[in-house]
Amino acid sequence: MDLDFHDVLLTPSDLLEHLFCPRFTYFERNLLLPEFQERREKVQRGRNLHKVREATNRAYLRKRLGVKEKRIDVSLVSTRHHLRGRLDEILFFDDGTAAPLDYKFAKDSGRIYRTLRIQSAIYALLIQENFGVTVTRGFLVYTRSQNRLVEFAYDAEDFRTIGKAVREILEIVQLGKLPKRAPASHCVDCCYRLICV
Ligand code: SF4
Repeated sequence: MDLDFHDVLLTPSDLLEHLFCPRFTYFERNLLLPEFQERREKVQRGRNLHKVREATNRAYLRKRLGVKEKRIDVSLVSTRHHLRGRLDEILFFDDGTAAPLDYKFAKDSGRIYRTLRIQSAIYALLIQENFGVTVTRGFLVYTRSQNRLVEFAYDAEDFRTIGKAVREILEIVQLGKLPKRAPASHCVDCCYRLICV
């Protein structure tokens, strides 16, 4: 495939699907077989979140956190990291740092799941590159727990995982080589299981 790597910009969903099973990358990007069911669910979820965001007071500045400015619904691209994403909110703090804030149509389980950490850390990379500020933490708002705000710090492993996944995806796209299977437990409800050998 004649492809300029600068053209490849991956979304958090692309990376999370790849981390779930690298064959998703191959089926979607090399064989051009989109995962329709997953996409439909995402659209529905997106609509729900849209309603939640509309109900939120967007002018509210989170002063308790030392926020001096916030931006809402921002699309960012990083050609350096091969990433792109649409961020619910970016918070800019008094100390010169910034952080992404993401609304989750879910209850707070008391722990930050890996998928949420990775998604937020991708946003952190996008903010860092586009605004030239330090981003060491992310925020989540759980809309089904009375909009509870949860803060967490990124670690080196989050960014290593992202870098490795991006490199693997670019390699699959370029070489067109079928990756290894995911663990069998991931295959139970997979829409590709009938064609995946
Ligand atoms: S059937 Fe299993 S190995 Fe194949 S794409 Fe689905 S999750 Fe991956």
